[in-house]
Amino acid sequence: MIPEINTLWHPKHTENTWQQALRQVIRDPNQLLSLLDLSHHPLAQQILQQPTFPLRIPLGYIARMQKGNFDDPLLRQVLPLRIELQQHRAFSCDPVGDKAAEKMPNLLHKYQGRMLILATSACAIHCRYCFRQYHPYIPENPLINQQIIDIIRADQTITEIILSGGDPLMLDDESLANFTAQLATIPQIKRLRLHTRMPIVLPERITINLIKSLTSTHLSLIIITHANHANEFDQKVSSALHKLFEAKITLLNQSVLLRGVNDNKEALIHLSETLFQNHIMPYYLHLLDKVQGAQHFDIPEKQAIELIDSMRKNLPGYLVPKLVREIAGLPYKQQII
Ligand SMILES: *Cc1c(COP(=O)(O)O)cnc(C)c1O
Ligand code: SF4
Repeated sequence: MIPEINTLWHPKHTENTWQQALRQVIRDPNQLLSLLDLSHHPLAQQILQQPTFPLRIPLGYIARMQKGNFDDPLLRQVLPLRIELQQHRAFSCDPVGDKAAEKMPNLLHKYQGRMLILATSACAIHCRYCFRQYHPYIPENPLINQQIIDIIRADQTITEIILSGGDPLMLDDESLANFTAQLATIPQIKRLRLHTRMPIVLPERITINLIKSLTSTHLSLIIITHANHANEFDQKVSSALHKLFEAKITLLNQSVLLRGVNDNKEALIHLSETLFQNHIMPYYLHLLDKVQGAQHFDIPEKQAIELIDSMRKNLPGYLVPKLVREIAGLPYKQQII
């Protein structure tokens, strides 16, 4: 009896739960349509069968979509459509100048005081509008690269390290714990920030062991989630976020303004309120980064400003995100309103 209980409490067991959830993904558009009772929908003809950026959606995320609704805001974010193949001059494979900001592979330095590490190319979900979907990732774990630590240590101006990707929470707890501990030995580093969609798309990832791995040093921890619609929240997501809140982690959210997903005031207001209920403050609402294949998600700036204006009329100031756009070469994300 007792050894069995011991194996249950072994950290490896917890890891297995999220790693199992991670394997429960749909990769085939036809299977997705069938799960949602959409195989015979007339718009099923618009599906792109073999996208270059492959389809990948965890089952737990699909469970939050409404069956029979081709316009479901979660489905729209992940459904490959033939319209992606259209080329447009303004849309490129490196819309935010990542290449020019590279200090070394997987390490970006764009803004004063902050360096960003592309911790991995992998994600639990593939979002069709992802601005890094063409990024030429170097297939290695940068968190165990001594050169990266040395570069950070040598630069006295850096006070914050951002782990992005991909999704940094695709890495295992041990890599994250070791990296955090190493970072904490660098005197000028005060904050560690993670940009992750994991609490929203695969809440199983938020385990007590993960939280311990990230919070065992003096560094302040900030987690920036990425939610675009209130329907992305369910009970599991809320309880994952509650665990992060109880661990006193600062929670902020960034969203992308997306045609057909959240381009109306009701959706944006509901999103802000849902974020707050889940201990998250709205941070940025991004205008789409002009990445090839995502043209059909684009919302003109004028309409975006009007949407923010309606949010201001309906919400307390602290629930209105900053509308921003990233322009390659600027020293900060440009705030539009
Ligand atoms: C977005 C971004 C940051 C963070 O910018 P904040 O305005 O501080 O959120 C830092 N580094 C890079 C390379 C980025 O793209
Ligand atoms: S990096 Fe973020 S936006 Fe891009 S596919 Fe991964 S989860 Fe989606």
